[in-house]
Amino acid sequence: MRVGVIGGGQLARMMVPPAIALGIDIRVLAEAENSSAAIAATAVGDYTDAATVLAFARDVDVVTFDHEHVPQDVLAALVADGVVVRPAPDALAVAQDKLVMRRRLTAIDARVPDWAEVADAEQLGAFLADHGGRAVVKTPRGGYDGKGVRVVDAADGADDWFATGGTLLAEELVDFRRELSQLVARRPSGEVRAWPLVETVQRDGVCAEVFAPAPRAGELPERARRLATRIAERLDVTGVLAVELFETAEGGLAVNELAMRPHNTGHWSIDGAVTSQFEQHLRAVLDLPLGDPSPTAPWSVMINVLGGPEGQTMPERYPGAMADRPEVKLHSYAKTSRPGRKVGHVTATGDELDDALARARAAAAFFQG
Ligand code: ADP
Repeated sequence: MRVGVIGGGQLARMMVPPAIALGIDIRVLAEAENSSAAIAATAVGDYTDAATVLAFARDVDVVTFDHEHVPQDVLAALVADGVVVRPAPDALAVAQDKLVMRRRLTAIDARVPDWAEVADAEQLGAFLADHGGRAVVKTPRGGYDGKGVRVVDAADGADDWFATGGTLLAEELVDFRRELSQLVARRPSGEVRAWPLVETVQRDGVCAEVFAPAPRAGELPERARRLATRIAERLDVTGVLAVELFETAEGGLAVNELAMRPHNTGHWSIDGAVTSQFEQHLRAVLDLPLGDPSPTAPWSVMINVLGGPEGQTMPERYPGAMADRPEVKLHSYAKTSRPGRKVGHVTATGDELDDALARARAAAAFFQG
């Protein structure tokens, strides 16, 4: 069984250990020589070039992704050539464009923040007037980690983005209680499995901490599981689907974002679940029976390592961190630190949330300085 992953980031990197364990031949088309997933990078090339991607895909049974940026014409060329692509281009199109996502979610009656497509400052001004003078504006494509997301309180607040052409997504500024994330995996023959609903803490638009399961959630886990399953089925998603959610002030759920690949809010599952999201993604795209997503500990806390001493890599700080926190699991993405850069994560598990959180924070502090 041969899986080809387009993109050489940390998500591709973290698919490698379960591929090795299962004896799956994993190959990665990376953007550069020294990518996070260099260990499995059998090709280096431009994922926007159809010929490059076709040549890479010829030797694998299924193509999947580390990111959502492969252009639709390249995906169409793969399908026309008989390559199995999972998730399929039509599903992926929804995750590639926030306007398409809002339209499709609205069409399947999934609750989303109030939104509009705006073409200029005048239309943005009208949206602001209807929403108390403040709104969130997003570039439909290419954003990540809060880049391409901005709170505006004036009609000219997105003029620089309008100047680059195209329409923008304007959204109600949601007064949420907290952010949650529901991950499910779906295989082509229909089986769906869900991990527990988790709570995520974002700082400056970047995921900082994840608590699994989401504490004090009442009936939300059941509702989130049904919602994510419905989205996966209606959009015909295969592989892992992440549904980023707001818990609204009234205690309801609204969908913020979808990702059709393993997701930062599922990293805890490597150390805290019977089947990690990376193993599950491989099973799902190969249409194999899915693994048990049950947690293996009452609580898991995942903390991203963001930044740290400029130019260093996480392993340079291992002696201190490992001596102090032998029970915390450390994950490095083989990236050198610079301010705000996501270079790895740590996960602590345990019987008490507060204790796991304190231990994970202590370990993360070794790397973030
Ligand atoms: P990205 O694609 O960069 O991850 P998101 O659309 O997920 O962008 O937004 C990043 C963060 O910005 C969210 O996690 C949330 O904290 C905040 N955010 C996004 N949309 C809204 C909204 N409509 N109301 C309030 N906060 C929002």
